Amino acid sequence: MDTDGYDLHTHSVCSDGTTTPTQNVRAAVALGLGGLAITDHDTLDGVAEALTAADGTGLEVVCGTEFSAELDGASVHVLGYWVDGGHAPLADELIRLRGERTDRARRMVARLNDVGVPVRIERVTELAAGAPIGRPHVAQAVVEVGAAETLGEVFDRYLADGGVAYVEKHAVTPVVAVRLLIDAGGVAVLAHPGLYGVGDAGIADEVVEELAAAGLAGVEADHPDHHPDQRRHFRDLAVGLGLEVTAGSDYHGDGKANQLGSATTPRRVVERLREHADA
Ligand code: AMP
Ligand code: ZN
Ligand code: FE
Ligand code: FE
Repeated sequence: MDTDGYDLHTHSVCSDGTTTPTQNVRAAVALGLGGLAITDHDTLDGVAEALTAADGTGLEVVCGTEFSAELDGASVHVLGYWVDGGHAPLADELIRLRGERTDRARRMVARLNDVGVPVRIERVTELAAGAPIGRPHVAQAVVEVGAAETLGEVFDRYLADGGVAYVEKHAVTPVVAVRLLIDAGGVAVLAHPGLYGVGDAGIADEVVEELAAAGLAGVEADHPDHHPDQRRHFRDLAVGLGLEVTAGSDYHGDGKANQLGSATTPRRVVERLREHADA
């Protein structure tokens, strides 16, 4: 592990992670990381707590969010760093997205009920505890009623994109997402490009080219769930398009096996991204 590096992708209880922003910061400090981004889904809520927790530790907290976009009915996640959460067009879309998540959770629960899984929306809401509701909250409720053993099994059987209880989010396209994040003063990085679409292909090269033309600054080629050939493919694609190559663990606490700090972005790459945000 690159101990001076930055883990640019972590979740907390402010979305579908299970640890507090403070716990993420303490874990990053214990590992000796240079920096940590809090990238909760469709919110910046965890950032302030993380900044406070990091005060005086030498760890840099990068303000971030993992913004939900959709292309042809499938999720595409765009990481935004150093965005101004108060910028009205972005703030309005984040509010809309969080409302959409609540409606969607209801619809996913209804579909689960239709196929005989007795989950209740009240329990899902309770598990989210005020954070934007994500599929992992629904999955946790399904495990609790005994319809599956693990969250992964719930996704495989019901909730994965295209699954029997999957419901779309009605989100903007990734090109619009990139523009919103840039207009809010931030930089946009395409999250886990290998995890979209059917099989191992990942997102189509042409989509990444289109995003680059819209101002995308980087591609998260080094994601723990990418195979070596996917890392190579997206690294080469990013370099060819003049984009930065980033890494992050996509830590979700107990919600996923990914360990905080298991993928880090070198400090010099973070500095170049910061210059993009300042430009
Ligand atoms: P949502 O934002 O509600 O669409 O949910 C997306 C989140 O669900 C991701 O950030 C992961 O935390 C989780 N997730 C997506 N696919 C899977 C999967 N196959 N197994 C486990 N968790 C998953
Ligand atoms: Zn998540
Ligand atoms: Fe994601
Ligand atoms: Fe994530």
